[in-house]
Amino acid sequence: MVNNNRSIVIMGGGPAGVFTACGLVDLGYSATIITRPRPFPAWEGISERPRTSLQHFGFRAALASIGPMVTRAAHWNGQSQAQNREYILNRQTFDQALLQDAKNKGVQIIHGRVEKAVRHENGWEISYVTSDAPPHQKIKIKADFLVDARGRESKLAKGGDIAEGDSTSGPATSALLKSYEVSPDLDAMTSVASFPKGWAWFLRDGEGTAILQIFINSEKGELPPKAGLDQYFSELTSILPESEAWLRGTTEQTSGVSVRTAAANRATCAGGNDFLVVGDGALALDPLSGNGIFYAIGSGLSAAPVINSLLKKPEDKDLALQFYQERIENSFKAGCLMGREFYAAEERWPEEAFWKARRLWPRGEGASHPDPLLQPAKICKKPVVKEGFIALEDVIVTADHPRGVWKIDGIPLVKLMVLLAAKKTDNESAAVFGAEAAQVTSARNWLLSRNMLEI
Ligand SMILES: Cc1cc2nc3c(=O)[nH]c(=O)nc-3n(C[C@H](O)[C@H](O)[C@H](O)COP(=O)(O)OP(=O)(O)OC[C@H]3O[C@@H](n4cnc5c(N)ncnc54)[C@H](O)[C@@H]3O)c2cc1C
Repeated sequence: MVNNNRSIVIMGGGPAGVFTACGLVDLGYSATIITRPRPFPAWEGISERPRTSLQHFGFRAALASIGPMVTRAAHWNGQSQAQNREYILNRQTFDQALLQDAKNKGVQIIHGRVEKAVRHENGWEISYVTSDAPPHQKIKIKADFLVDARGRESKLAKGGDIAEGDSTSGPATSALLKSYEVSPDLDAMTSVASFPKGWAWFLRDGEGTAILQIFINSEKGELPPKAGLDQYFSELTSILPESEAWLRGTTEQTSGVSVRTAAANRATCAGGNDFLVVGDGALALDPLSGNGIFYAIGSGLSAAPVINSLLKKPEDKDLALQFYQERIENSFKAGCLMGREFYAAEERWPEEAFWKARRLWPRGEGASHPDPLLQPAKICKKPVVKEGFIALEDVIVTADHPRGVWKIDGIPLVKLMVLLAAKKTDNESAAVFGAEAAQVTSARNWLLSRNMLEI
């Protein structure tokens, strides 16, 4: 394997940091993650898509750490449904497993808390503290390239350690979480419910733990001080009808109520010559979407070729950063529109502050999943990931794919259109691409569904 003699430090070892680091190692770089464990309990749910990504890229320990799949009961707008399924994730266990996978793939892991990152003439100097060293002793490490993967604690895009850009935010939201003990004989389950002050997610892991997480408005001054959180949580549960059944037979754990910020947020400048912000630091969605981990994995996967281009093809810097920023902006837009659609579906408390702020945000028209035929498809040149770099290629832009689609099933669509115009069969086209006829058929069907074969 090529040894790219440039040192890259990744601050933060969640899904985005780990996927970035592993992608860089695959490209021949040496990558070091500095991370500290999640300081509080956190439980999340994931769909099949991120699980498939973990499987595809061989994250065995992370896969093994995923809990059971359950059907999520939803109580929203006065109706109850049980249609969606999700895998239960204990984030503390999952994050440890991700780091184990990263280590197995050749990433160097440092367990420490980053205090500061400073840019010098010849690169970055990162200071961190670790439990192995005497308290307050800062250890320094140098890097040619810096990745900020500290999740919602990322600072590089927020004018923290260096001022490069700012971010755009949705309504201020906090998640209050409380843990309970429950009989291990009760099956694993999740359930979501709306109420006048926000919405709640209840989880039972089937092994004796349950958590209740309540999402509320948290504009300045709305949350009580730490000492009043327990009381506030009790007040919220008293007006959340479903909590009675959820919490029956449970015993509160002593850890108290923990708080996580949860507003949608995106960086307006997520990268430069020598740094990139990945995952939640670049694009954090409202947890109602349940897609955060999926986006964080995607962010890490796209970061590696962007960094490769920045380091090895500086002439393509603008193209690489354009690719990365457009990806963030489009995902943010689609994610926020999806959030607005979910919130607007709850119609019982339009005047309550929580619902009022969210059912009309973001302003403007648009749907999270626009009809592909809403506007005619067109051929454009756009940046894509190609052989480990970002390169310009002919893509097809449609209403549902504003960044364009280059390939379907490995087949470049615009090149296929040329062959189809010359009346080539699927077998003949497949021979040109060194692919199977079935791949060509699926790409041709995609073109047909977008009316691209009528012109
Ligand atoms: C309340 C809540 C509920 C959510 N529920 C879901 C859900 O059900 N499903 C879903 O898919 N997504 C959910 N999400 C979103 C999901 O958590 C994130 O999108 C995802 O974890 C982002 O990955 P990341 O790698 O960018 O950041 P993170 O996973 O946050 O990882 C960042 C890492 O950096 C470390 N770190 C931070 N600061 C430092 C420092 N100074 N030094 C060293 N290390 C540091 C952290 O300890 C952490 O390990 C939820 C988010 C919130 C807030």
